[in-house]
Amino acid sequence: MHLYLHIPFCKQACHYCDFHFSTNQTFKAELVAAMAHEIALRADYLPARRLETIYFGGGTPSLLTEAELAQLFEAIHQQFTVAPDAEITLEANPDDLVPDKLAMLRRYVNRLSVGIQTFDEATLRWMNRAHTAVEAEQCVRLARDAGFDNLSIDLIYGIPNRPDNLWQADLERALALDVPHLSAYSLTIEPDTAFGRWQQKGRLQPAEDSLAADHFEQLVKALTGAGYDHYEISNFAKPGCYARHNSAYWQRRPYLGVGPAAHSYNGPSRQYNVAHNPRYIAGLGSGQIPAEREELTPADQVNEYLLTGLRTKWGCRIDDLNQMLGRDFLAANRLIIGKLQNNGWLLIDSGVVRLTESGKLFADRVAAELFVD
Ligand code: SF4
Repeated sequence: MHLYLHIPFCKQACHYCDFHFSTNQTFKAELVAAMAHEIALRADYLPARRLETIYFGGGTPSLLTEAELAQLFEAIHQQFTVAPDAEITLEANPDDLVPDKLAMLRRYVNRLSVGIQTFDEATLRWMNRAHTAVEAEQCVRLARDAGFDNLSIDLIYGIPNRPDNLWQADLERALALDVPHLSAYSLTIEPDTAFGRWQQKGRLQPAEDSLAADHFEQLVKALTGAGYDHYEISNFAKPGCYARHNSAYWQRRPYLGVGPAAHSYNGPSRQYNVAHNPRYIAGLGSGQIPAEREELTPADQVNEYLLTGLRTKWGCRIDDLNQMLGRDFLAANRLIIGKLQNNGWLLIDSGVVRLTESGKLFADRVAAELFVD
């Protein structure tokens, strides 16, 4: 089973980010106590009490103190058995990864996912990241010195209004770090962010779609050329170094999400915790988890599987689609599948539907075209 913990605090707001977080850390201790309480209240949500992966996401989990991490792990160990080989990941920002902090984190977690985004100082300032280019480069070495072999870094591409060679430079500097796992995401301008407001005022023009497509091609060429397996559209791993927690999401395994804005999934339904720190703390204070629940119809389950499964190199198994849908998926989608195959975006092979290389540029669109009612 799989456990996600959402730590909704950041030092400052990155201009592109629409995740749930607060830059006011006044109530961090109360919120961590509320999360420990939620773990106790919801341990029965999962069909088994043995955890294969634990993931601290956010927000910025590397802001947690040792006492706060210890409190959360105490709550976890009271309710669950953590498998001896469990993958325990914590998202971290480079500016937090100083030797003392890394030594402390290593006592609790065995994998770091570091939000580097770019190695270019001017771009980091423009995005309002809290770290410097030097910290971006040094943090991986410091993490290794502290005993972290299992490291992932995040990069952002498709950034407008900067010299085009900077993406290639970012890729080269990332490859030089030789980390086992790398994720790369295209910059999207969301309305409720600083960049969204800049765009509304005409201060920011988003990049052309072709820029992100060119950068994606450069990314795939550079990473696969360096021996990484392109196993999910945004994710690359050295052999055997797949992200086990995220792979569980893509393979529709049940997981419990704890904390404000965390989602949970148990097969027939999803649960969405309130994305508001004071309401979350107040709810737990009265023994309630402020959350909404969504029952998933067979069509919802098929559509979710298409959205996540098609993004992976394993694609979607036709037997599974038929079973979830209760009828023949290929027959129900014969015309649209023929069109997508003719476009060169979709392949059907050995009982599996998957995207071609060119189809990966249009993954969400292809999945949406295959959606069932
Ligand atoms: S540190 Fe991460 S979660 Fe926080 S604002 Fe920046 S991108 Fe968003």
